[in-house]
Amino acid sequence: MRRKLAAGNWKMNGLSAELDQIDALTASHATPSVDLLLCPPATLVAAAAARVGSHPMMIGGQDCHMEDSGAYTGDVSAPMLADAGAGAVILGHSERRDAHEESDEMVRAKAEAAHRAGLIAVVCLGESLDQREAGQTLDIIGAQLAASVPDAATSDTLVIAYEPIWAIGTGKVPTLEQIAEVHDFIRARLEDRFGTEQASAIRLLYGGSVKPDNASDIFAVSNVDGALVGGASLKAADFSPIIKAL
Ligand code: 13P
Repeated sequence: MRRKLAAGNWKMNGLSAELDQIDALTASHATPSVDLLLCPPATLVAAAAARVGSHPMMIGGQDCHMEDSGAYTGDVSAPMLADAGAGAVILGHSERRDAHEESDEMVRAKAEAAHRAGLIAVVCLGESLDQREAGQTLDIIGAQLAASVPDAATSDTLVIAYEPIWAIGTGKVPTLEQIAEVHDFIRARLEDRFGTEQASAIRLLYGGSVKPDNASDIFAVSNVDGALVGGASLKAADFSPIIKAL
């Protein structure tokens, strides 16, 4: 059975003082029954990993370069994240696809770099409001999935996060039926591509305005194996009830 995963994405938030939140999380979930992943900004990855210590919570990055090293001023490579103590990296978040013009092909190359470095790739997919209103959601998600995920991915190295762009940071959440439709569709496409055994073990996260008060409804949806949480992961007091709802 798939182990549930609660993942937090701090985005461009967090200074050293906020590492206290990690202490609060590991203290209130001393022996978690679900997998935990927290992705602070790159500047905090090493300190966060040190702070987690022997607790099973994993620390991850929020992006990596597709090359392992080289003349790419300002970028962070997958081996650097791994060296800093990360075990995973978020890739293809809509904020990067949008503001940094990341294509599906770039996301796939980054996921391959993550895999070379031994990191789990958390690959994000999501449609815009215009695309949803035009009835294109499944076409968009299917195309992103096909082109962003490496052929060599396995259930140990890949997590998919479905994050409708219009639900991120807006307080708007799709209906439970809409979430189920997309998650069931992703599972079916993964089965076509990777076979039932692998596909049935790949975790599918929902992301977009997950909060303590809507988490348990969302987690009851078919093929939702956890969440990728933005704003509500910044404070342990908000993230902790979401973890408990899993
Ligand atoms: P919010 O939870 O703040 O809507 O962000 C979701 C997200 O983008 C996580 O990657």
